[in-house]
Amino acid sequence: MVNASLDKRPPARKPESAGRPRVAVLLPLPFPGPFDYAVPPALADLQPGDIVSVPLGRRTETGVVWDPAPALPPEFTPPPMKPVADGRLKPVLTRLDQPPLPGALRRFVDWVAAYTLSPPGMVLAMALRTAATTPITPATGWAAAEAPPDLRETPARRRVLDVATSDGPLPGAELARRAGVGAGVVRGLADAGALRAVVLKPAPPFATPAPAYCPPTLGDGQREAAQSLRDLAGAGGFSVTLLEGVTGSGKTEIYLEAIAACLERGRQVLVLLPEIALSAQWTGRFARRFGAEPALWHSDLSPRLRRVTWHAVAEGSARVVVGARSALFLPFAELGLIIVDEEHESAFKQEDGVTYHARDMAVVRARMDHAPIILVSATPSLETLANVGAGRYRHLALTARHGGAAMPAVRTVDMRAHPPERGLFLSPVLTEAMQATMARGEQAMLFLNRRGYAPLTLCRTCGHRLQCPNCTAWLVEHRARRVITCHHCGYQEPTPPTCPSCHAEASLTPIGPGVERITEEARATFPDARLLVMASDTLPGPAATADAVAQIARREVDLVIGTQIVAKGWHFPHLTLVGVVDADLGLGGGDLRAAERTVQLLHQVAGRAGRAEAPGTVLLQSYCTEHPVMQALVSGDFASFMRQEAEQRRPGFWPPFGRLAALIVSADTPEAADATARALGASAPRGEGMQVLGPAPAPLAILRGRHRRRLLLRARREIALQPIVRQWLERVAPERGARIDVDIDPVSFL
Ligand code: ADP
Ligand code: ZN
Repeated sequence: MVNASLDKRPPARKPESAGRPRVAVLLPLPFPGPFDYAVPPALADLQPGDIVSVPLGRRTETGVVWDPAPALPPEFTPPPMKPVADGRLKPVLTRLDQPPLPGALRRFVDWVAAYTLSPPGMVLAMALRTAATTPITPATGWAAAEAPPDLRETPARRRVLDVATSDGPLPGAELARRAGVGAGVVRGLADAGALRAVVLKPAPPFATPAPAYCPPTLGDGQREAAQSLRDLAGAGGFSVTLLEGVTGSGKTEIYLEAIAACLERGRQVLVLLPEIALSAQWTGRFARRFGAEPALWHSDLSPRLRRVTWHAVAEGSARVVVGARSALFLPFAELGLIIVDEEHESAFKQEDGVTYHARDMAVVRARMDHAPIILVSATPSLETLANVGAGRYRHLALTARHGGAAMPAVRTVDMRAHPPERGLFLSPVLTEAMQATMARGEQAMLFLNRRGYAPLTLCRTCGHRLQCPNCTAWLVEHRARRVITCHHCGYQEPTPPTCPSCHAEASLTPIGPGVERITEEARATFPDARLLVMASDTLPGPAATADAVAQIARREVDLVIGTQIVAKGWHFPHLTLVGVVDADLGLGGGDLRAAERTVQLLHQVAGRAGRAEAPGTVLLQSYCTEHPVMQALVSGDFASFMRQEAEQRRPGFWPPFGRLAALIVSADTPEAADATARALGASAPRGEGMQVLGPAPAPLAILRGRHRRRLLLRARREIALQPIVRQWLERVAPERGARIDVDIDPVSFL
């Protein structure tokens, strides 16, 4: 969806004004742009990118010396801020001893801000985090010094001096440990002048991956694709390539070769994964190929590791970074290649704070760094396919699974013809297949994209439904934890013993299944099976996930039951049956991409089956087996399905054939929400090729106690939405207690 080109650079320096020398400094705060500061003589050589501290009101803030004018296409450029008169200009206080923010990253920050209509400081905040502003304090070590003549020698002191002479300089604790003495002995020697302090050079935190460490032997279909990617990565320069191939065809294997070529060229690599839970298996595979672990980047890093990684990326000692979408904002010194794995995943869309689509922004970042980017998927998004169709992206396809493994046979189970027993959710067709699979010593998996025991609890006596007090949402029972909880705001309370409304006893009834309930059913049906549940709330973090995956690979499990976490790119060699409990689940709701997303998700789940010698089977439980989504999954003909999808979206200018911007009003009261939404509706932009839908209550009409309304601006592809939305917002003042959030290229319509 991103199509503006930005290769022209503006002059690097602020135009000399007649008065005092000044620089623009962007602060990581929600202001409309950078502020001017005076340059004191001692800092006359300040450069864009330098990290500085400046006064702001009575506080001191850390910011970045910014380029005088953002290098944006004119229709994106925000209106200039009023310049401050010389006399009121405050000075830059200091320049921090930090690597500067590279020019490509600064341009990227400006671009993302302009594209998403966010304050540039909020985008900068993502690039700085706490990382850049806190220096890594170098450790002190102790080395032996010329011993003073009056030094009192003891055996313990002698040992310390011997170790310091042979192994020093060493940190105090390490020196004491090796000499087998207490810390006091080292301190005493230092005080006496027999040890001198030395600033230790930190060891590079990341080992260097070796491109030639363990290259694969590629299969016939793979060699050509790998060579083509190697050529791209080896030559450098901006290009976008879609690497498409069925699950298990070796896409990862092949893009690792592109990484090798980029490393040979002496450039850094960024790999974006939709979810960091996947990183454990990925880093293991990377280490086997390159003999070193990549650097990891995600929101759960410890503050220290975050700082160390940020600096290692800036200095170039971290050669390969694998991370979640926020890794896009790292200060790469010499970025030479970006990979976006599972490019179709909606997890790449960040929904809060600055809303951006990491796949689309990765393409922009690649352009700024003049680097190739590879988008990888078994089921590419319609957006990416449209770009391929229009000739903007290259296309490489792998058509067969590696090593001759067959694609799993996908069949539907018509739930109307083969219903489960009353109160149960698994059709006899599915349970019989599970029975046979486990009897052969193979593994089976059940997939249901719903956490907890039941999505809805109602009272059989009065009909009351347990609802979140803060959201328009049902409370979901989690039986194992004995709570009911809201999956939108996190509200939670103990499961009530009686109906909160009519106080009837034993009248609350779970409606519909979640994974917990399916687990209960499976346990009753297969009492001897070794069962493992994989859901984001039962697997706290990547380590637990990796452990579960390893258990499955070691065949310590017969039956896996999971939510979408099991759908990810895992390799389970002994898994031959996948049962999708509710294949229709994602089709409701009328979301623009509901069908596309269901096909992508279920194909991904199906891809877990039969990845080794034994062939796999996938059974889709559905009440509408004739639906095009089910038919596409059964035939495996996604190209036709996507062509049909395209033909449905094209006439109405729905993405990717048109552009969307959502405006979300949220307010303390329904009145403020309505008034603001009405005001937006009344001053909606009008014009050829565009249309405003709404205002309408959001499906999540109340979220975290805030009342929500939505408007949707739809326009032809050639119309840039940003200036239209910016002017629209300028015409409307939100009511007290109301705010308006903008979501360009929305993915969620809740
Ligand atoms: P994809 O990313 O397309 O799902 P992978 O790259 O994960 O496929 O490959 C699937 C499996 O096949 C992995 O276990 C991988 O190690 C193996 N594989 C793929 N290509 C090769 C190859 N050329 N040599 C050895 N193993 C391979
Ligand atoms: Zn809630």
